[in-house]
Amino acid sequence: MLVLLDNGHGGLIKGRPQTRERRSEEFPDGKQLFEGELNRAIINGMIQELSFMQIPYVHICPELEDVLIGTRISRANSHHQQNALLVSVHSNTNEGPRAGDGCEFLIHPNSSLGPSIATIFAEEFQQAFPNARLRRGEGGTPFKLRGDLGLLRRTRMPAILTENFFFNNERETRDILLSREGRWKIIDYHVAAIVRVMVEVFGENPVFRG
Ligand SMILES: [Zn+2]
Repeated sequence: MLVLLDNGHGGLIKGRPQTRERRSEEFPDGKQLFEGELNRAIINGMIQELSFMQIPYVHICPELEDVLIGTRISRANSHHQQNALLVSVHSNTNEGPRAGDGCEFLIHPNSSLGPSIATIFAEEFQQAFPNARLRRGEGGTPFKLRGDLGLLRRTRMPAILTENFFFNNERETRDILLSREGRWKIIDYHVAAIVRVMVEVFGENPVFRG
């Protein structure tokens, strides 16, 4: 198995967000969430755990700058091999008077392995956050089909995009996205899902030494 890791948006350089619009409001105590920073923290935690378990990975956008979607797609495709899995980590936001809540798992409608992979991610998410909402697709599937996202549509390997809570939801942002405990739970459920995909979808045996 090869895990391809994508953190989507730009991070922070000298405190300045590289993808400015993807951020929470600034709270009265001065705290604020920048999605690109969160995505990197989750990916970096996953990298540590995958390394401990000797599961190979490629970080397709390690820069702090915002990397164009076309570049990220071609980097992912340049590493395509048997049993590759692309995981793109994000946090959500929505318009309107009521902030959304919970997590959702996006796959391309033509992905043959996507439904089993996304179901595993959804199960591990619910295990880690039993009181949080799993945002389901049409017909009640534990994932949503998105034909419009280039990262899912134009990549050659099975790919999943995880939307972890809503950064315009103050409770989720303060309690989960801006807390160490919340971030580690997000990291751990991603890693648990990857290990299950390796075994249950790709039929590989994990070589745990960590
Ligand atoms: Zn995002």
